[in-house]
Amino acid sequence: MSLFAIRDDDTSFFTNPEELESVYKSYWGKVPISLATIPFSGPEHRARSFDPTCSPDSENPLGANKNLVDWLKNKNKNGQIEIMLHGYSHRYRRINGQWVGEYGWKPPEQLAEETRRGKEYLESLLETNIKEFVPPSNTINKYGIQAIRSENLNLSGVMGRGLDRPFTLDYMQAYAKRWAWRLRHGDAYPFPLRYGGHSELRAYTLTPRSDEDGLCRSLRYCASINAPFVLATHYWEFNDFPNMHSSMARLISLAENLDMKFAKLSSCFGE
Ligand SMILES: [Zn+2]
Repeated sequence: MSLFAIRDDDTSFFTNPEELESVYKSYWGKVPISLATIPFSGPEHRARSFDPTCSPDSENPLGANKNLVDWLKNKNKNGQIEIMLHGYSHRYRRINGQWVGEYGWKPPEQLAEETRRGKEYLESLLETNIKEFVPPSNTINKYGIQAIRSENLNLSGVMGRGLDRPFTLDYMQAYAKRWAWRLRHGDAYPFPLRYGGHSELRAYTLTPRSDEDGLCRSLRYCASINAPFVLATHYWEFNDFPNMHSSMARLISLAENLDMKFAKLSSCFGE
């Protein structure tokens, strides 16, 4: 049976639990939501500000939002959500005219230290174990990979075109497997890719610009080959683009019709 998971990115100090409720209230008890959570978020993600009154350089601990912490702990205890690590501060830097996510520009020692500290902080604050990492803007270089491996975290995302992972024999094998699949099937490798002691798994993105019919085609395909389907989205986009609600409802209903099993993202890695 194929698994269906929802990954929602950007829960942080700036999140009001009602924003998450407004997106997922129809699904509690049926579809668990895997929340990619930022431990010490800055107020600005790329050009978007979550709080214009907040100093752009500030790093705001999730624990300072007591309402959110209580809500997350309660939902997690009931098995309705799981917590994943989503970077440290989610700060971008502009390099050669491009916004680059923090796991693409921070020095190796800083990535190692912040990954460890961010994971420990969220685990202790929310009384949970974290097993997955979601890189901000889906950007991660080989130093970021080393940092998450040291913390035994799996990656929601897949390797890029090349040389973005520590260069080892099992990396070469995984790379060959992935490109052989792409050449044969014309799409990214759909199963967990295991190497270097951790796993990586692709996700399918739901944004205001997503091709809904294309997502439905991918979902049907995953169900037919017994591959997991991870739908990645951002709760804060639903407010401005309410048609995302109907897209999500259509995908969930299709997954039900295809007899897929709703699961946490960690289950898609076989854990
Ligand atoms: Zn993010």
